Amino acid sequence: MTASAPSRTDSQDYMAFESQVCAPNYLPIPVVLERGEGVWLYDQEGRKYLDMMSAYSAVSHGHCHPELVKVLHDQAQTLCITSRAFYSSALAPFLQKICDMSGLEMVLPMNTGAEAVETAIKAARRWGYEVKGIPDNQAEIIVAHNNFHGRTTTIISFSSEEEYKHHFGPLTTGFKEVPFGDLEALEKAITPNTCAFMIEPMQGEAGILIPPVGWLKKVRELCDKHNVLLILDEVQTGLGRTGKLFAFQHEGIIPDGLILGKALGGGILPISAFVSTREVLNLFRPGSHGSTFAGNPLSAKVGLKALEILERDSYVQRSAELGNYLQNELKQLKSPLITTVRGSGLWIAVEIDPKKAPARDVCEALMERGVLSKETHDTVVRLAPPLVIEKEQLDFSVQALKEALQDVESKL
Ligand SMILES: *Cc1c(COP(=O)(O)O)cnc(C)c1O
Repeated sequence: MTASAPSRTDSQDYMAFESQVCAPNYLPIPVVLERGEGVWLYDQEGRKYLDMMSAYSAVSHGHCHPELVKVLHDQAQTLCITSRAFYSSALAPFLQKICDMSGLEMVLPMNTGAEAVETAIKAARRWGYEVKGIPDNQAEIIVAHNNFHGRTTTIISFSSEEEYKHHFGPLTTGFKEVPFGDLEALEKAITPNTCAFMIEPMQGEAGILIPPVGWLKKVRELCDKHNVLLILDEVQTGLGRTGKLFAFQHEGIIPDGLILGKALGGGILPISAFVSTREVLNLFRPGSHGSTFAGNPLSAKVGLKALEILERDSYVQRSAELGNYLQNELKQLKSPLITTVRGSGLWIAVEIDPKKAPARDVCEALMERGVLSKETHDTVVRLAPPLVIEKEQLDFSVQALKEALQDVESKL
């Protein structure tokens, strides 16, 4: 080592350590986080960052929301895990709240988003056989190109991303893909064996893609006409992220099935749910499906409180108003690196020209300037802060992005 070499930091040591013991299935931004409070995160050296990523929209309530931490703490001292081998008095009030907010009738609680998607797939197939009368093992589910619904073996089977599937076969059959936002292709793909059309109402991991206005409403009509369930994966778009409580409310429809996760856990616990009608969910029988941790008292209490806070503190309205503000500010940035800015609510994609620089470089430059985000594919910088963020903090993020873009530009 030469005398001028910088000394290793705690963070560098930690990153080297982690790379020895943790499978490299992510490529994290090189910052080692230690503490969070509201919209702020702190690294090992005590540097402070504005969180514009919210753990892929799971932290809408901000980090360590004091009321959620209190509920967590109180319930942790009372009763945490029972499994659903027994009733627990915490569960039904939580599920009732989800029904009241969504306009649907019943809930099957789960833990992670992918599990709730798996639950939706099982529910749709069972409905196909037992209600629609599809011959056994013939049910088809139509999905959208560029979909993202999680990482289980079945879910990746209908992904259009090669990287998600490579050497993970053999894959699950029974899925068909149509272009996102294409009504004609959907109608052509429907057969008497189609039990469901399952989509994100706005595609998140694909880069915050918003379908044409009116499309979802027509999809609803098409599904009704052909007796096909419309299942919306709102794991990321739900609970205020896009400026409505649910993204389907932008189109004034109600789906037959709704998948929730991420923000449902208040940024504290993994909590997910498949929400639907009695007609669909009453087809599950004891023994047909389950999960040891799903619907546990600790999750039920935290989830209920997360929903109550979201309503009381007007997260939906904040997302709509602050999202418009942020999008307008970003559109005025006029950087040659930016090709477009799009989004809905506090869920915004800044598209970077791939001929100029990878979005990753912009995210790393942002980190240097005290703002955390993560690229989606190679071209999108995603801005999805906690919904509790304040206008001045958004101004800080826009200024940091402006400077980060200049930093990247100066190195071209
Ligand atoms: C994140 C996500 C999932 C998967 O959730 P996990 O909790 O990571 O399993 C499913 N669907 C959508 C739309 C998502 O954004």
